Amino acid sequence: MSHRIVPCPQCGAPSEYSPANVYRPFCSLRCRTQDLAGWAEERYRITGSETAVDGLSDDTTPPY
Ligand SMILES: [Zn+2]
Repeated sequence: MSHRIVPCPQCGAPSEYSPANVYRPFCSLRCRTQDLAGWAEERYRITGSETAVDGLSDDTTPPY
């Protein structure tokens, strides 16, 4: 069995990339949660603004 050490994408600490590390490639649950939370927040913001722009342009077209 071979395992390798990868830098945690969240904090940069060395983490073991192997089935033993259930949070791989993160070093801990905390880093994994923070990364996922950041992703979700960013995605939600992008999706929300796109929806808002779409609704606005659709709303502005008819009067003209
Ligand atoms: Zn970490």
